[in-house]
Amino acid sequence: MAALLIAVVITLQAPHESAAPSHSATSANSAESAELVPVPVPEPSERAMEYYRSGIAIWFGVQAWRLAIPAVILFSGFSARLRTFAKRLGRSWFGTIAVYLLAFYLITFVIELPLDYFLGYVRPHHYELSRQSLGRWIGNEFKSLAIGIVAAIAFVWIPFLVIARSPKRWWLYTGMLALPFAIFTAFVMPIWIDPLFNAFGPMKNKALEAQILSLADRAGIDGSRVFEIDKSRDTKTVNAYVTGLFGSKRIVLWDTLLANQNDKEVLAVMGHEMGHFVLNHVAWGISLGAAGSLILLFLVDRLGRWSIARFGNRFGFDSLADIAALPLFIFLLAGLNLIGSPIQLAISRTMEHEADRFSLELTHTNHSAASAFAKLQRENLSNPRPGWLSVIFRSSHPPLGERIDFCNVYHPWTSGLSGRYDSLFRSGTEQSKRAD
Ligand SMILES: [Zn+2]
Repeated sequence: MAALLIAVVITLQAPHESAAPSHSATSANSAESAELVPVPVPEPSERAMEYYRSGIAIWFGVQAWRLAIPAVILFSGFSARLRTFAKRLGRSWFGTIAVYLLAFYLITFVIELPLDYFLGYVRPHHYELSRQSLGRWIGNEFKSLAIGIVAAIAFVWIPFLVIARSPKRWWLYTGMLALPFAIFTAFVMPIWIDPLFNAFGPMKNKALEAQILSLADRAGIDGSRVFEIDKSRDTKTVNAYVTGLFGSKRIVLWDTLLANQNDKEVLAVMGHEMGHFVLNHVAWGISLGAAGSLILLFLVDRLGRWSIARFGNRFGFDSLADIAALPLFIFLLAGLNLIGSPIQLAISRTMEHEADRFSLELTHTNHSAASAFAKLQRENLSNPRPGWLSVIFRSSHPPLGERIDFCNVYHPWTSGLSGRYDSLFRSGTEQSKRAD
């Protein structure tokens, strides 16, 4: 399955062969040759390595903690008692589920608060990566809690209804519902949810914006899709991302990136984000995720039934249709997701690498792209060469060392060869004619 998914991604991004090279080696001028000067991968600071090593230890702790909480709630019989309480208060089928979810979310919020505080506030401040005030951090925590409760009450009853109606095939029907649900979530996220946390607007630096829009036009992207976000309120780290689907699809630039990098470096980073945009990586991620969720839910069904047959007496329920089984679902999903994460992360790294390639082919600014990554490494305290186990289980992006190496060596246009994505770019004359 893993191989199949990866094969799909790679086939999708197979090279577009074109006869005529778009740029010839002879046209290289001094600006172009300056962009071919390699950038050495910076040595990580002692602090960055400490951040990396402690990050691995914390990763193990977090995984264990995420499995331990639902396991304790289950095996102590607490979930069943909570359901009995919810039934008394909520009366109806839906009322029981709503009260249970509300109580469950509040209780787990309190249990997880110390860890959230450590990971989201103490640790980033200790490493001087955060600028967030405690008040803002607390505000965001409560916003997330409120969104979680509203979303849970709005949607979690659906699989429980499906299980009650079709105890044998629920995993298939729920898995089929996962795709429209994921599409809906991806669509509303940038317009309903993200603005609750940060302000999004057009770019403030108009000269740079004009350059970005011209690059976007060449990549075939409508300029109204570029936003600047006030991340400097929260963090010193730098980033940019692509989000949304259909009408809500957009490229978002952190203002910290703009403060930290020169124009050409920003353009190289934007070229990468444009790659995600044009190659439809969000939609591919959702489709592959939905396919994966069918397998995941099938396994949850089998393991869930087995767990109830084996430990049902201690859990205090005898059916997956009982809302008291929620922590069992959470436990199984967390465990299976952990096991499946190397596949998911490998697909993500493939997409990230292709976005890097897209950027280089679009901009031809290898030196600027590499120096943007070198700055990213320093600002974000990254280890450019993490261990392979860390890459397999924790890295959604290729290590920065590899990304810089790739920028240093990948320039097929200097040998008169065409790039994988050349056919997707608009030429200068097309730009003024085409409008979409
Ligand atoms: Zn990316």
